[in-house]
Formats: sequence, C-alpha cells, structure tokens
Amino acid sequence: MVSFKRYELPPLPYPYDALEPVISKETLTYHHDKHHLAYVNGANAALDKLEKYLNGQVESLDVRAVLRDFEFNYGGHLLHALYWLNMAPKGKGGGKPGGAIADAINKYFGGFEKFQKLFGDAAKNVEGVGWALLAYDPVTGELRILQVEKHNNVVTTNLIPLLIVDVFEHAYYIDYRNDRAKYVDSWWSLVNWDDVEARYQKALNAPKFIL
Ligand code: MN
Repeated sequence: MVSFKRYELPPLPYPYDALEPVISKETLTYHHDKHHLAYVNGANAALDKLEKYLNGQVESLDVRAVLRDFEFNYGGHLLHALYWLNMAPKGKGGGKPGGAIADAINKYFGGFEKFQKLFGDAAKNVEGVGWALLAYDPVTGELRILQVEKHNNVVTTNLIPLLIVDVFEHAYYIDYRNDRAKYVDSWWSLVNWDDVEARYQKALNAPKFIL
C-alpha cells in the first residue's frame, strides 16, 4: 500500500501581534490560521486522491486537476512557511542586510537601493495575485528576482528561494485596503536579514544543478 506523509501547518515563529503595526494581529491570524492552513489541507487532499488511485481504491484519477491542485497548494504551503520566517518583529527586522548577502546584492543589483526598488516594483506589479521572490540560481551562482503568479512555478524551478513577499490581497487588505504599494513599502521594516543571510549561506553550499 502506498502511504504518503502528510504536510503540517508550522506554528508562526512569533506571536500574532508581533508584526504590528505593519501587519495587524487580525491579518496575521487570518493569514496563518485560515489561508496557510487551507494550502496545507489542499496539498494533503491531493495526496489522499493520489493514494486512493495508486492503491486501487478508485479506478480513475482526474490527473490534471489533482496534480494542479497539488502544485498550487504545496507551493502555497512552502511559500507561506518562507514568508513567516523571512520576517521578524519590529525592532529586530528591517534595515540593510550585512554579510555575504549584502555583497551579493551589491554585485548583482548595483547596490541595496537599486535592489529594493526592483524587488519592490516586482511585488507591486504582480498581475493579480502572487509573490515577489529573491532567489539563488545554482546554475550561475547569481541572484535572481522573480514574480511568482499564484503559488505555481516555484515548486518546479531549480532556484533556491531566499526572500519572499506575499502580495495576495489577503496579505494586506485588512490593513491597507487596495494600497498594495504602501504595504510593500512598509513590509521592508520587517525583513529578517539574518534569515536571508542564513539561507544564502546554505544555497552557496548546495550542490550545483547539472544540466
Ligand atoms: Mn498568503
């Protein structure tokens, strides 16, 4: 019998009111307890269907729907887990990065301000819902900025995610209504650069992708 492990909702690494006033307790509670949980449950539901099919308990599988559901929900689970860890309570987050990630940002974006402008513009201009992502490219050893639509694509890519910002409306609508730009500009004060640096160090030591 095929029996997959199930995904679990990780607890937030800080209290629900820790990111105020940039992200309210109400937003964080809904975002983590409702939205993130729904992605965990959605990924597990897709695994349920796959298991039943592989174990012969059902005869047919809507393969396109089930695998699409898996990618969407698994991507949502991973990206939210990263988003929480990329932030730190006010006073502990924000400012400018140090260490190797600061050097890499200077090298590949021409300075922190240029990086901040490009990453911020990427987030503000995601069409519909999605994310802006800073990632390490193991093929070249360089940094890349991407716009991720919905939750898809990142799961299948080779890029190693370092820093992400959620620009689904559920991430900011309670606090900023439709002003996504104000949310993104405020979000910088929460960035946990120590976490980004730690991820970058791991990425540098990751095996190179062989084409
Ligand atoms: Mn979200």
